[in-house]
Amino acid sequence: MLRTCRVLCSQASPSAGGWRPLNFDGGAFHLKGTGELTRALLVLRLCAWPPLVTHGLAVSSDPGDCPEVPQGPALSPHSLSPQLQAWSQRLLGSRLSGALLRASIYGQFVAGETAEEVRGCVQQLQTLGLRPLLAVPTEEEPDSAVKTGEAWYEGNLHAMLRCVDLSRGLLETPGPTGNILMQLKMTALTSTWLCKALTSWVRRPGASLELSPERLAEAMDSGQDLQISCLTAEQNQHLQASLSRLHRVVQVRPSAVVWLRCWAPGALTTVPHPQHARAQHVRLLVDAEYTSLNPALSLLVAALAARWNRPREGGPWVWNTYQAYLKDTHERLQQDAEAADGAGLAFGVKLVRGAYLDKEREVARLQGTEDPTQPDCEATSQSRCLELMLTHVSRRGPVCHLMVASHNEESVCQATKRMWELGIPLDGPVCFGQLLGMCDHVSLALGQAGYAVYKSIPYGSLEEVIPYLIRRAQENRSVLQGARREQELLSQELWRRLLRRGLSVPC
Ligand SMILES: Cc1cc2nc3c(=O)[nH]c(=O)nc-3n(C[C@H](O)[C@H](O)[C@H](O)COP(=O)(O)OP(=O)(O)OC[C@H]3O[C@@H](n4cnc5c(N)ncnc54)[C@H](O)[C@@H]3O)c2cc1C
Repeated sequence: MLRTCRVLCSQASPSAGGWRPLNFDGGAFHLKGTGELTRALLVLRLCAWPPLVTHGLAVSSDPGDCPEVPQGPALSPHSLSPQLQAWSQRLLGSRLSGALLRASIYGQFVAGETAEEVRGCVQQLQTLGLRPLLAVPTEEEPDSAVKTGEAWYEGNLHAMLRCVDLSRGLLETPGPTGNILMQLKMTALTSTWLCKALTSWVRRPGASLELSPERLAEAMDSGQDLQISCLTAEQNQHLQASLSRLHRVVQVRPSAVVWLRCWAPGALTTVPHPQHARAQHVRLLVDAEYTSLNPALSLLVAALAARWNRPREGGPWVWNTYQAYLKDTHERLQQDAEAADGAGLAFGVKLVRGAYLDKEREVARLQGTEDPTQPDCEATSQSRCLELMLTHVSRRGPVCHLMVASHNEESVCQATKRMWELGIPLDGPVCFGQLLGMCDHVSLALGQAGYAVYKSIPYGSLEEVIPYLIRRAQENRSVLQGARREQELLSQELWRRLLRRGLSVPC
């Protein structure tokens, strides 16, 4: 796979103004400090060790945490989740284990806890030509009364609004600026049980009129009571509250002043908060989750898009995420792109491989239904979702935006080549996304070549972030295990530095 990529890269002409072939050979590591490189190598080695990810970081490798599968007490996603933390706490005492986690996994994959720490991390990225894509780490716990009650979703709303503020504030820091993007996890604002109910209705023919995006958008805008006949009273009430939360993230009515706890380093104060994502020029990238929830999530995104992706708004302000590993994604992407085009709406897409492969397959097996995922990696690559979107961007221009969110060198290489062939500018409507602390050799090479590259950055306290990190580690198990090439490149760079230092030591 990598050989193909290198052949592909070397065939392209590096002539001025042409496609600049990218070198993912770790050359860009010279931009990073030795301490950072050493930590990256140690942490990636640790994460690539299967027993750690499978057992030490066990959330449960079975689908118990998937909303599709009923959960027994032993399968609660978070009853096992802090195993690593528990082990290290037992061994070292909580202070020391906290310090160790901070210096290792947390330090590698998380920006920090305070606004100052996040700013520091982002400034560092900006000097390397990379941009921030802040993500509030939230994990629903279907078994927990605390983490599914209305108050929990309201708390998450405030965290999202603080994230909007922080994302906007980061633009004032020195370094390259541009579009401000942030990730939004819909199930932090609305429950998975409602999403499952909506999904089952959206899938039925005939239910579409009552559940149309336009109707939901109208209810969001007016704040009027919405009664959907297929939902129970409790579900209708929660839908209303969820729509109101979504509306408040994108748009707070100018007359309404929402009082928020201000997220400041070391202090939580209360300040009036009249701003919202649209006014602060922050684009919201809604995450894709399980197939049992995605149709509901897409319906809510479509409702937001109907209002906020209209041409006069200069959007797209609300983007959806499409998982290339699903068999039906190419068709859905085509339909949605054409529908947005037909309605004159801007269209924003984050294209990912998909993070829930094992669980989707396990659920299909348990339920005796067809596996919704592509049979293998090759089939995912051949789904032509990337090609579809790049062609669409080149046809529609800046009203259509795409983030190629991938650590896969071949996909990234392919995207840059097609951008050049289609005449899409390097820093235009197409950008790239990778996770903080992962595949820096790819991010840095892209950034140095002038492409827009965003690092997805979770932040928060150790306690808030560990469940999120554990889940990401499990979801990306194959990527972390496959980060061998990155480890190789990191070792090479560290050896190079060591030898250079050794040679320069006076006799
Ligand atoms: C900025 C950002 C945002 C993201 N947002 C989301 C999101 O909203 N929702 C979401 O689900 N994920 C999201 N992800 C995660 C993403 O879907 C992937 O899990 C992750 O990025 C790894 O895929 P890749 O393309 O980077 O790596 P790849 O190298 O393409 O894939 C990793 C591994 O998966 C294997 N593989 C790929 N497809 C298949 C298949 N069909 N069968 C068997 N093996 C296969 C490959 O062989 C490889 O070993 C996001 C990622 C980033 C960077």
